[in-house]
Amino acid sequence: MISQNAIDALRKTEIGAQRLFIDGLQLDGMSGASLMVTSPIDGRPFASIVDGNAADIDRAVRSARKAFENGSWSSSTPAFRKKVLTKLAELVEKHADELAVLGVRDNGTEIGMAYKAEPLSAAGTIRYYAEAIDKIYGEIAPTADNVLGLIHKEPLGVVGVIVPWNFPLMIGAWKIAPALAAGNCVVVKPPEIASLTLLRLAELASEAGLPAGVLNVVTGRGAVTGEALGLHMDVDAIAFTGSGPVGRRLLEYSARSNLKRVFLELGGKSPNIVFADAPDLKQAAVVSANGIFRNSGQVCVAGSRLLLQASVYDRFMDELLSATTRLKVGDPLDLSSDIGAVSSAGQLDKNLGFVERAQAEGARLVTGGERLLAETGGSYMAPTIFENVTQEMQLAREEVFGPVLGVMRFETEEEAVRLANSTVYGLASAVWTANLSTAHRMVRAINAGVVHVNTYGGADITVPLGGVKQSGFGRDKSLHALDKYLDLKTAWIAL
Ligand code: NAD
Repeated sequence: MISQNAIDALRKTEIGAQRLFIDGLQLDGMSGASLMVTSPIDGRPFASIVDGNAADIDRAVRSARKAFENGSWSSSTPAFRKKVLTKLAELVEKHADELAVLGVRDNGTEIGMAYKAEPLSAAGTIRYYAEAIDKIYGEIAPTADNVLGLIHKEPLGVVGVIVPWNFPLMIGAWKIAPALAAGNCVVVKPPEIASLTLLRLAELASEAGLPAGVLNVVTGRGAVTGEALGLHMDVDAIAFTGSGPVGRRLLEYSARSNLKRVFLELGGKSPNIVFADAPDLKQAAVVSANGIFRNSGQVCVAGSRLLLQASVYDRFMDELLSATTRLKVGDPLDLSSDIGAVSSAGQLDKNLGFVERAQAEGARLVTGGERLLAETGGSYMAPTIFENVTQEMQLAREEVFGPVLGVMRFETEEEAVRLANSTVYGLASAVWTANLSTAHRMVRAINAGVVHVNTYGGADITVPLGGVKQSGFGRDKSLHALDKYLDLKTAWIAL
């Protein structure tokens, strides 16, 4: 774990003006324009990034295509790709302190969480796909004896990666690592408010021996650089994590351009369902509070709807309130803070807008609802709980992506299932019960990519992550993710 001394030394590092990473080089943007990077810790600017444009994206895509065609990576042996990616994982681990603090200055996640979720988990992901890639075989089809049907697995070509600001390095690695391991070349468009760690990753990849042009990073605004990547005629696939509206745009861009594949991981409104026979209500309350409030609720799988069985409602709410009020909101670079900053002033305003609307619609504010630590200039928000939330309210239907929990009451299992499945989303969920049959019935009944039982959160690179319904499609993580970046080609050979 990172020490407070290490954090305090790194938090003052000069970052300055960043450049693009294209064809193995740090380059200025074509237009010369830049974007100021403001830290949500204190609201002060501490770096700038290139405000890229379509011409920068085009340069990056050309460099990726050139690298793909010269075969230095795409036609290299799996053993070589494994060696380079393993080296990259080692370098990410070696620079974990630096990457973690850099990322927190950018997006405000509490350092304890950021350290594990960003550099360490990204390194683990890169190592996982590095180790996997020389164990993926083609197939021989069971055809008639006079034919040999071979199924080859080939890289797609140029893959565009677009990620959000909550965990850019971790989510970026979920896409970049399998895409590279499979032999593709990649152009990354980081989130404009948290680009720094992905730029650093590209430098480390070059140091690890990744050939020039195989991994490129173009910073800039989503509506400009993201759109240019989505519309580019020479990009074969886009792997995206972010909001539903932008996901829809990417599908449109694909339709308007070259029909590139689009893989979408979108938002959620995940139900956390507590039955009266939950094994340990107190522990369930502590885990549930963390399940919504960690990283200020800016977690795609956050349990933002709490469904409580009526007979334990009051007891659970007492435990939940005491677990929530114990959480310390503060400087994300202080190891004693449980919750850091909201990623930006704009996101904080959006969260407070949800609070206002929930009150106007008749939900009862139990705790929180306000900005904290305004004197720091940073964006901090109190963990917020509303009860008496009904199905019709905005808070029951729309993703806040902030530290706001809506609580609802249910009587029967059927009612819990109905409420759980009542949004357009289907990302995560949880069920707390001591009854094995209830647990298994709920796992089958809930429409979601994951159903946690007697816990909330908890994941591993070995299991897929992703949603159903309007939470998207195309799983990240696990060996299944490799399929997104590999094409099947048949050789039909008459014998
Ligand atoms: P966002 O959709 O606003 O932005 C995501 C990325 O898309 C950013 O890099 C942004 O620059 C880019 N972008 C914006 N406009 C674009 C356009 N017109 N064309 C192409 N790219 C464009 O999302 P956000 O606010 O950064 O992140 C929050 C959202 O991400 C939430 O909805 C959250 O649930 C979701 N999320 C999902 C997962 C998951 O695994 N399912 C994980 C984390 C976050």
